[in-house]
Parts: sequence; C-alpha cells; structure tokens
Amino acid sequence: MGSTRTGRRWASAWVAGGLSLVLAVLSGYAAVGGWRQAGILDRVAADSGNTDAYQQVAFLAGWETALLQSALDEPTGPERRQVVEVGVLVRAATVKMAGVDRDHEQRAASIAQSRTELQPAIDTYLAQLRRGDTAGARATLETVIEPRSASLMGDVLTELNLHLAAHARYQAAAQHESRLLWWGGVASFVVGLIVLALFLFSIRSHRRRVETMAATDALTGLPNRAAFTARAGLASADGETDTTVLTVNLDGFRDVNEQLGHQIGDLLLIEAGERLRASMREHDVVARIGGDEFAVLLRDGDSALGEALAARLTAAFDQPFLIGEVTVDLEVSIGAATARDGDDVTTLLQHADMAMREAKEHRLGFHRFSGDHGQDTAARLTLLGDLRRALDSGGELTLHYQPKIAMDTGEVAGVEALARWQHPTKGWVSPGEFIPVLETTSLIHRFTDRVLRVALTQAREWLDGGHRVAVSVNISTRSLLDESFPDRVAELLTETGVPGDQLCIEVTEHSVMSDPATAIEAMRRIRALGVRTSIDDYGTGYSSMTYLKLLPLDELKVDRSFVQDMTNDRSDHALVESTVELGRNLGLTVVAEGVEDAATASALRELGCDVAQGFLYAKPMPAEAVTERLGRRTVESPA
Ligand code: C2E
Ligand code: CA
Ligand code: CA
Repeated sequence: MGSTRTGRRWASAWVAGGLSLVLAVLSGYAAVGGWRQAGILDRVAADSGNTDAYQQVAFLAGWETALLQSALDEPTGPERRQVVEVGVLVRAATVKMAGVDRDHEQRAASIAQSRTELQPAIDTYLAQLRRGDTAGARATLETVIEPRSASLMGDVLTELNLHLAAHARYQAAAQHESRLLWWGGVASFVVGLIVLALFLFSIRSHRRRVETMAATDALTGLPNRAAFTARAGLASADGETDTTVLTVNLDGFRDVNEQLGHQIGDLLLIEAGERLRASMREHDVVARIGGDEFAVLLRDGDSALGEALAARLTAAFDQPFLIGEVTVDLEVSIGAATARDGDDVTTLLQHADMAMREAKEHRLGFHRFSGDHGQDTAARLTLLGDLRRALDSGGELTLHYQPKIAMDTGEVAGVEALARWQHPTKGWVSPGEFIPVLETTSLIHRFTDRVLRVALTQAREWLDGGHRVAVSVNISTRSLLDESFPDRVAELLTETGVPGDQLCIEVTEHSVMSDPATAIEAMRRIRALGVRTSIDDYGTGYSSMTYLKLLPLDELKVDRSFVQDMTNDRSDHALVESTVELGRNLGLTVVAEGVEDAATASALRELGCDVAQGFLYAKPMPAEAVTERLGRRTVESPA
C-alpha cells in the first residue's frame, strides 16, 4: 500500500515537472517569436517605405516623359516650364529613393545617377525648344532622352516589383508567425491551467497526507484513538444507535515485549493489527487505541454480529505468530458494548473496556457489557444515599482482615483490611459492588479516610497487645491521585501513633498507569513516611518493566486469577514464576493472593514466593478472630 502511494506521488511529481518544462519552453518560444515578429514588422515597414519611394519615382518620371512630349507639340505652352519643375521633383525622388532603399542601395544609386546624367540632355532639349529648333529638339528627345528614360523607367519598375514581392513575403511571414504565436499562447494557457490544477491537487493531497498522519497510528498504520473516537462520534451523530464497539486486548503481550524485546513486540503488534483488519469486514473501523489495545467499530443493527465477529477474531489468533525465528502464541480478550440512548463514544468505549477486562480476568475470551455491572441510575443513586448514611452513622461499615502468611515460617506476615458493609435491608453488600459506586463521587475520600482510621486504630490495638502486625489497606485510584492524600496518611499515623512501617497501601496497576506521574509522586511521599507500598492485582494491567523500576515499591501481589489456576495452566504458572523472579531482582516482596489449595501452596513455595494469602490459610475475618489467631503466635502451615 505504502509503495503504490509513493509511486503515485513520484509519477505526479514527474508529470508536474514535465509540464513545467513544457510551459517554460512555450514561454521562451513566445519571447523569441515576439522578438522575431517585431523584426519582421520592421522589415514590412521598411519595405513599404521602399515601394512608396519607387512608386513616387515611377509616377513622377512618367509625368515628366509626358510633359517632355507635350512641350514638343506646343513649345510655347506651360508644359515647358512644368518640365523644369517636375524634373526637380523627379531628381529629388530618385535621391530619396536611393537614400531609403537599404537592400538594393547600389541599384537605387545607379538609377538616381542615370537620372542625373539625363539632365544635360533635357536641358539641351529645352534650349532647342526655346530657340525654336523643333527638329533638333525632336532628334534629342527621340534619340537621347526617350531611350534613356525608358530604360530608367524599366529599372524603377523592376525594383518596385522586387520590393513589392519582398513586402508580400514578409507580410505572409509575419502572419504565419503571429498565427504560431497565437497557438503558442493557447498552448501555454492550457499547460498553465494543467500545472495550476496539479499544484492545487498536490497541495490538497499533501494536506490530506498530514491529516492522515495525525489520525494514524504510526506503527500499524491503523487509525489511532482520536480518529476512532471521531469516527464513532460521527456514527452516533448520524443517529446510528446500534453502534457496537469491540475492544480487543492481546493477552500476555506485555510479557512478550519484556522478554523478547520491543522490536519483536512492535512486529507482533503490526501483525496483530493486520490479522484484526483481515478478520473484520471492509466497512468496520479497526483502530489501535493503546499499547496492546485495539478497537473495532461495528455500525450494524444486529448486535449478535459482535459475537460472530469476535469469534472470527479469536480464531484468527489461533495460528501462532512467526516473527523472524521466534514463534509466539497470543490470545485475545474481547469486550463488546452496544450504544443505548444517550451513550456517547467515551461511555461506549469505557463499557467495552470494562467488558474486556471482565473477559480477561475470567478467561472468557469474549464478554459483552450488560449494563447491570454499572447498575441503572436509580438503583445507583439509592445505593449512594445509603452509603452516605452509612458513612455518617458508622455502624454499618466495618473491616475484616485476611492474614498474609510468610511461606518460609508460616507466620502471619501481616493482614489485609477488607471493607464490609452490612446494609440494613440488603444484608452484606460486597465491596466489589459498592466501591465502584463510591468511586464515582468524592465520597470515596471519606470512605478511604474511614478505612485508614479504623485499620490504624486496630493496628495500634494489636501493637498494644504485643503483636506487630502490619495492616494492608486498599486505596482506590481517586484517593491515590488526590493531592492531599499523603498528608492525610501522615496525619492519621500521628493521630493513632502507629509507626509507618506497620501500614502498607495496596494500589492497582490500573490506577498507577492511569496517571503515572501523579501516582509515583504520591507513592514517593507516602513511602517517605516509612509506609510500605504494594501493587495489587499484578498481571492484569499494563505496567511495564520500566515503570516497575521507577515506582517507589515494596511489594507485588500476583492477581488471584493467575494463582488459582497455576498448577493447571502453564502460562499462569509462567507469569507467577516470572513475577517471583522479577520481585527478587527488584528487591520486592512477592505475595500470591487467592491461594485455595495445598498444591498451589507447594508450587508457590517451590518457586520461592515470599508470602501467600487465600482461603487455604484464612478467610477475611473480624479483628477479634485475628487477635485470637495471633494469640497462637504462629499459624500452622497446612501444606
Ligand atoms: P482485592 O484487593 O483483590 O482483595 C482480595 C479479594 O479476594 C477479597 O475480596 C477477598 O475476600 C478475596 N479472596 C481472598 N482470598 C481468596 C481466595 O482464596 N479465593 C477467592 N476466590 N477469593 C479470595 P473482597 O473482600 O470481596 O474484596 C474485593 C475487592 O474489593 C478487593 O479486591 C479490593 O479491590 C476491593 N476492596 C475491598 N476493601 C476495600 C477497601 O477498603 N478500599 C478499597 N478501595 N477497595 C477495597
Ligand atoms: Ca488488595
Ligand atoms: Ca488483589
């Protein structure tokens, strides 16, 4: 595609160059032609001067001859005097003629000379007439004057004809030349128009090229996020309510990128983009909207089509990728969302993204956004009202604690505080349900504050009871990115008198990556208080090696979706293994969460994982239950 485009650009450059050359030649020709025509016109003008002079001479000479003859018939008449006057005119005309004719200068001069030489004979003739010597005068006229003036007249007429012929020739040439010039002018005009059109065309295509570049992902050549959003926005502006968006994420791409290098990673993305494009239909918009994330815009009414196309897409990734010498297996997680009334592009993308994450987390391959996840607005508002009330009153919101077990000693290495809400009518509401609702409002700050205060108060109580048990608290994105959060943590530590190292904050990869600069700064400030920091749900996000090195970090918590199946699934096992390795290299504690059976525990121990957490050891429990357990000092390892 690229090479034909370049080819076309070259061809039009050549055409434009060629036409400009033609235009230059035509203009040159017009200039030379104009100059030549000016020359010809000069000649024509000169020639008409010549012919006029000869014509004058011929006329006057003819008149003189006639007067000479009449004078003989009537020697006393006025003709004799007139002969003298006309003779002067004839001589003057011959002199002028000799002066004007630059072509036949000599011949004109000799004609003038002959006329001068004839003058004595005419004078003699007039004297004879004056004397009344008619016979002598006749003899002079017939033998001397008439033959010589006849020959003179012959010469004049010959010259006159020559000049007339030349005049006609020049005039024809001038006509021919100006006709050529006219055609040249027409041709210049036409070529000029074509060059102008080509110029305008090339400006337009240049502009289009610039526009395309701004809207295109440089690596894959697919539209980028901005272009995708614009196209999807147009679709919804057209009133196409049935727009469906698929977001496609390459599972395990991050590992490939880290382990095999960015070059292979890039090639993989290009190839993945091509497969994606090929498995969709011509009119579907396929875009790359993030690192390893693609999106497809379907504008059909049939929502089941999303499922069909997703299946086709999944199948397209069954074949391993062959990049140079390397074979890579990649799977995709696909999320789908269909626009409902009032859904804008951003919402649609968000919904598809949520569905995609769901698909990824639960290894579904494909998942469609259902809407109940976000709850419908009315129910959401009721829930928010209830939460506000719960935050005000205090009793309904409590914390449970889940022990984290050191794998080498089996001792409690710490506990994770997990929020519990006892709703007056609904009973227990899971944090997975109410925390996302809280996060949509600034109530989340009050909530985080509450959790931190309760957890630290509990940690203080344990310290006072002689148990050094560090408490981990989950911090939602909004709180982490809130500018005053680190100061709030400091205040609460002072207030409860808990040393910083007895607190650990858990933040997810997603929240760090949503605004790395702010997140890193907040973590740095919190860590300066002695507080430990942990990346929760590790493996489900996008954090790269580079970011991990930059993050002020103490702990990595491998997401339970990888841990739970690691004894059966080779790639899950590989992820846990590489995380343990990474933790070791970066000096981080690695925690495996969601450990439910002994086989997983022993696999983790074999890999050298530091800490484990899960139902195998303990479910989240009220503080008193933990205190009781701590009383036993060590928790027996069931493995
Ligand atoms: P999380 O941080 O990943 O917390 C671990 C979740 O896994 C807890 O669910 C816990 O009960 C569950 N779990 C622990 N061991 C196992 C196991 O062996 N198997 C299985 N299947 N699950 C296990 P929970 O308490 O429902 O919390 C869900 C999520 O809600 C938490 O996930 C966390 O993201 C969020 N959350 C909980 N409390 C808070 C909080 O105080 N603040 C914030 N911001 N988020 C919280
Ligand atoms: Ca957690
Ligand atoms: Ca987790």
